[in-house]
Amino acid sequence: MTAAGDDAAHRTGRRPSRRTVLKAAGATALAVSAASALAGPAYAGEDSEDSESSTRDFIVIGAGFAGVTAARELRARGKRVTILEARSRIGGRTWTDTFAGQQVEMGGTWVEPTQPHIAKELKRYSIGLEEEDPLDRMLLPTPKGPKAFTPAEGNAAMGPLFEKLFEGSKQYFERPFQPLYRADLLQKLDKLSLRDRLNELKLSPADEMLINGQTAIYSGGASSEGALTMLAQWWSMAGWNNEGWSDTQRYRMKPGTVGMLSAMINEAKPTIVFNAPVASVAESGNRVHVTTRAGKTYSAKGVVVAVPVNVWHTIKFTPGLPAAHTAAASQGIGVKNALKIWIHAREGQGRFYGQAAEGGSPIPMFIPYKKTSEGQLYVGFSVDPKLDPTNTAQVKDAVKKLGADLDIIGLRAQNWGADEFSRGGWAFRKPGQLTSLYPDVLNQATNRITFASGDIAEGWTGFIDGAIESGLRAAQLANGEM
Ligand SMILES: Cc1cc2nc3c(=O)[nH]c(=O)nc-3n(C[C@H](O)[C@H](O)[C@H](O)COP(=O)(O)OP(=O)(O)OC[C@H]3O[C@@H](n4cnc5c(N)ncnc54)[C@H](O)[C@@H]3O)c2cc1C
Repeated sequence: MTAAGDDAAHRTGRRPSRRTVLKAAGATALAVSAASALAGPAYAGEDSEDSESSTRDFIVIGAGFAGVTAARELRARGKRVTILEARSRIGGRTWTDTFAGQQVEMGGTWVEPTQPHIAKELKRYSIGLEEEDPLDRMLLPTPKGPKAFTPAEGNAAMGPLFEKLFEGSKQYFERPFQPLYRADLLQKLDKLSLRDRLNELKLSPADEMLINGQTAIYSGGASSEGALTMLAQWWSMAGWNNEGWSDTQRYRMKPGTVGMLSAMINEAKPTIVFNAPVASVAESGNRVHVTTRAGKTYSAKGVVVAVPVNVWHTIKFTPGLPAAHTAAASQGIGVKNALKIWIHAREGQGRFYGQAAEGGSPIPMFIPYKKTSEGQLYVGFSVDPKLDPTNTAQVKDAVKKLGADLDIIGLRAQNWGADEFSRGGWAFRKPGQLTSLYPDVLNQATNRITFASGDIAEGWTGFIDGAIESGLRAAQLANGEM
């Protein structure tokens, strides 16, 4: 069952049209300004919060989209919630910041107005979207080196290859928001990596190069690491075509991701304790005791654990977790060495999109952002642990491999793999995880301990939409409604 079981998209697997959703979301309205959002929510230091408070119903661990959604939904059910957050800010793997005078996102950024939960939240808080400006050109790999294509040529070359890669997905993901709906068709398929599927297709080297950069980066470095069914599910939710798939990198929230999160927090009014990394969660009788690394214990009737799956193994759970949760914790779902880098360069190269073939560059995906007074901002993605994102020469060389020579003014990066509170970036399931772990990780771990994370969403796993979906489901589970 999905968190939004009555949602048309969930029932039929069809997407509403973008025009309908943009209209509903009030795409030009902007009720939440970035400035007010950055001012932040109510804050309680560890010392001022009454750890034994008998009026507290739930503790939510983690103030990312999943945790904040769960807190808001529990509050809507009349529950008192305390959020314990390890960092000094909200947002987790989303982080609205400033670089080269522009508002930038250091983590999750783009939302698709047809993503069901994003659509509802945009409308609820009258948050507008900003569309990326069009590209000048696409630099794509060929056997003779990088070549410039017009965006129309580039997409016309890649689209049919993706269609081949995901052939059959209309059947095996008949309802892509309920990925196990055709579990009968998925048992064998889910064991395939994207590399297995590419090998089956026997594409020409030129054709393979055009798409294996994407299959590799999303998987975490090598196409052999990621499950075919993960990318195929994203493709299916995006409407089973390249236009929908490309649109997942088209819109940003005007007030930044922090704008939506802050609006949610203003509604949830939880107590938030920052700088409070949790070390253990112990269920005992009709209470759960949550102890921070600093040794302070908070208790409540129930706990929603809304930290990334890759972090689960750093928290001691009593009683131990069920088998599927233990397996997910040891295998991990977030891509290990994910790094996002902002590059500020002098004018000259314009708005180009760059993509390398698998193994072709330490920064295999490169996207233009805004102009600045001095030049142009770009954003790159890397999963190469050897890349030093502070080293201008290394970054320049990585971009040269895509076919562009940049005059770099400044760099700013966030290494999500090295960050102890994420231990990885976007979620991307490994072969077998959907069919072996999912039926169980979607459920409660114990009567009083529930998990929420964009890493274990039914729909947009690895996206903000998925984190919201998971937070909604966790609140229902924790409140005994499912
Ligand atoms: C580089 C990058 C690019 C991405 N791009 C997109 C995109 O364009 N569009 C999109 O929709 N999604 C994107 N994503 C994915 C999206 O950001 C995530 O799916 C989503 O933010 C996950 O939310 P969450 O609440 O599940 O987890 P998180 O955001 O990770 O939140 C978990 C929270 O738990 C806290 N925490 C961790 N350990 C502890 C502890 N021991 N005690 C207390 N608190 C703890 C963390 O500090 C964090 O605040 C991207 C992710 C990355 C990394």
